[in-house]
Amino acid sequence: KCNLESAQMLNLDSSVDASLNLQSRPDVLTCTYWKAAIIWEGMFDPRLYDEMHKMKGSSVALTVFAVGRYLDAYLHTFLNSCEQHFMVGLPVTYYVFTDMPEKVPNIKLSPLRSMKVIKVEKNSRWQDVSMMRMKSISDVIESDIRHHCTHVFCFDVDQVFTGRFGSEALGDSVALLHAHYYHLPKHFYTYDRNPNSKAYMETGDFYYHAAIFGGSWKSVKALTEACYQGIMEDKQNNVEALWHDESHLNKYMVLHKPSKVLSPEYCWDTSIGFRSDIQVTRLLWAPKYYDTLRTL
Ligand code: UDP
Ligand code: MN
Repeated sequence: KCNLESAQMLNLDSSVDASLNLQSRPDVLTCTYWKAAIIWEGMFDPRLYDEMHKMKGSSVALTVFAVGRYLDAYLHTFLNSCEQHFMVGLPVTYYVFTDMPEKVPNIKLSPLRSMKVIKVEKNSRWQDVSMMRMKSISDVIESDIRHHCTHVFCFDVDQVFTGRFGSEALGDSVALLHAHYYHLPKHFYTYDRNPNSKAYMETGDFYYHAAIFGGSWKSVKALTEACYQGIMEDKQNNVEALWHDESHLNKYMVLHKPSKVLSPEYCWDTSIGFRSDIQVTRLLWAPKYYDTLRTL
């Protein structure tokens, strides 16, 4: 059982976890060495989490980018599935970033939910579209989110919710175990190994997937600002991290440990096939059509 009563008690979200009596699971790692919970199905009572967060007045900003061809390919399915499964019962504001605001689908939102569309320029390289999200997210947290929401979750658009993705995932700083790496020895992790990049790291704790990260608005602002700075320094030095924003996210998370970690149940790739430890899939990778989507 994760001893959440020690160091992490200082952190409000972890004291929530402690008071809601997170259970362990025998077949998987449920606690990091710095005593952050790793959330798997069966560890928590969803009703208690929802009640607690409603009582505390938690409200969630979801950021998602649909630039260029990604809009038609994914956004409609993504948003519809959010309405079914993402933080149901809590106030949610979608922040949709796109170069074509007029093409954002008109989706009927449940009560307590709203959408803000923010126009961004289309970078010509997909790597830059992906990396520059860090800057846009940090800016919108400062100008808007911090005045309206307690928490922020940032998502890739090429995925679809298939099960509850609820308030148990909220925390001060939240990272996701990458479905392709969580069961592998560390030497397989694809950290950036170029000493000239700001994302350079030898070893770390886990390999985190940048398709989802979140936390309080304050900690997501700190994370996105730091990653953006690293990315810009790399550009000045004419280097690019191996996996772009994901490399910078992994570097940040090794220096600033997340207070909560999500299991790959929160972002599963069905092409991996059956795994007995994946008891539920809450969000699935959508098919990737790189050939057609990444040509401009
Ligand atoms: N993205 C976009 N348009 C692009 C490239 C990327 O909107 O031309 C956004 C989109 O939200 C996407 C995310 O950036 O999900 C990350 O890119 P991608 O999903 O292709 O990266 P991968 O999942 O392969 O790491
Ligand atoms: Mn993606």
